[in-house]
Amino acid sequence: MTKVAILYIGTGHYTIFWDEFFQSCEKNLLRNCEKHYFFFTDSKEFQSNEKVTIVPQDNLGWPLITALRYKILNKIKEELKDYDYAFFFNGNMEVIHQVKEKELLPNAKEGYIVAPLHSGNKRMKSNHDFEYERNPKSTSYIPYGVGKYYFHAGLLGGRVKEFLEMLDICEKMMDDDLKNNIIPKFHDESVFNKYVLTHPHKILSNYYIHPTHGKWFLRLNPKVKIIQRDKAKLKYGGHAYLRGETHEKITLSNYIKEKIRNVLK
Ligand code: UDP
Repeated sequence: MTKVAILYIGTGHYTIFWDEFFQSCEKNLLRNCEKHYFFFTDSKEFQSNEKVTIVPQDNLGWPLITALRYKILNKIKEELKDYDYAFFFNGNMEVIHQVKEKELLPNAKEGYIVAPLHSGNKRMKSNHDFEYERNPKSTSYIPYGVGKYYFHAGLLGGRVKEFLEMLDICEKMMDDDLKNNIIPKFHDESVFNKYVLTHPHKILSNYYIHPTHGKWFLRLNPKVKIIQRDKAKLKYGGHAYLRGETHEKITLSNYIKEKIRNVLK
């Protein structure tokens, strides 16, 4: 049976998302594969078991916890060599409808790596609008006029061999930038967009990483397979709380203001 490692980082307040993420993968993700989860966390609430390996991970705070993603995942490169495929998911993701092997697993022609389209592609009219890193001194630099799509880095993965090569290259790109006091505009995502520019990949539609912003009816659309749960929701505490920028959960009035802003976007 094909062995798949599912990689997940949840430090600080982000642990709130884990249970639903895990349950949703068990129910809907790659049901014909043998899945094992690696959960990187600073929480002492969780213990390893036959399905989940807890990997101790300091809460580096935001943005380092996301900027250093490739280095963090690379810590278990030896363990990953026992698997056929590995996929990383952002904390707030949930697999709401069945995702089959042929939909997700990339093949040789696709470079054995996946690249999910960012929902922003619909609003960005030309590649001049893409949120690529535009600082020529950054390793993630992409000049204006180059690039066909803007990709989301909330779902990364592929065959283990190619995935590990990607982790090494992206880790080094980020290290080199940090040494030069540069943090690419969208951290791990800027690095990923530069990486896929020169590496073949399987394009996933944004039905595999779909924003919900509280639009519950999207859950009824069978094409929308993997959602990003709405971090602004009162029950999750809001963006700033989740990222540890404040210890106060979002208030009802600020939540409503955020909703209105999203509707007007
Ligand atoms: N993350 C975490 N703890 C934090 C902040 C972020 O574990 O305090 C991880 C988590 O895996 C999350 C990812 O970093 O999904 C990206 O965080 P960010 O807040 O940037 O989420 P995005 O805006 O990309 O959804």
